[in-house]
Amino acid sequence: MTAPVIGVLALQGDVREHVTALTGAGARAHPVRRPTELDAVDGLVIPGGESTTISKLVDIFEMREPIDKRIAAGLPVYGSCAGMIMLATEVLDGRPDQRGFDGIEMTVRRNAFGRQVDSFEAPVEISGVPGGPLHAVFIRAPWVERVGATVEVLGTVTDGPAAGRIVAVRRDNLLATSFHPELTGDLRLHAYFVDLVRTAT
Ligand code: GLN
Repeated sequence: MTAPVIGVLALQGDVREHVTALTGAGARAHPVRRPTELDAVDGLVIPGGESTTISKLVDIFEMREPIDKRIAAGLPVYGSCAGMIMLATEVLDGRPDQRGFDGIEMTVRRNAFGRQVDSFEAPVEISGVPGGPLHAVFIRAPWVERVGATVEVLGTVTDGPAAGRIVAVRRDNLLATSFHPELTGDLRLHAYFVDLVRTAT
């Protein structure tokens, strides 16, 4: 089977790391900035960065309507950290003018883990990802406070003050994590997404 083509939304954030991880996981990965580039992909990653900035740039680059349309048509999308925020239907502690793609029925809280633990790492078991817990890296990460009935919870924090917090979810072809698997060299989460894209196309 030929490798699926997966775009990484390249308006802001850690684009290159996702391109590398997706390539390692068997996809053909390209940065995507324009509607014509979006047309050519079988799946899309929205990287970590700053969701308020990504939201603004989505409008400036006239990508909102094209992405909304592809999501409505079933495009597989994986959002990490800021990308998770961009996929949520409701954002707490956001800026009033930030807008996402309303893809996954869930409430996320920005910068939820608090200032003292701006960044931290923890093992997280992800349902559907074999081989034991992922080493999850959280950087000013959101967590998920509520999910709708259509949303499957894939992973929660097991230890420490944030124990029980939902940090990985899926709704049909849409996947989101609070953490950054592209920073660890562990390709299992990207492989999970590449499989999802293969199955969807
Ligand atoms: N705090 C950032 C935001 O609100 C997300 C941080 C990240 O993506 N590492 O978008």
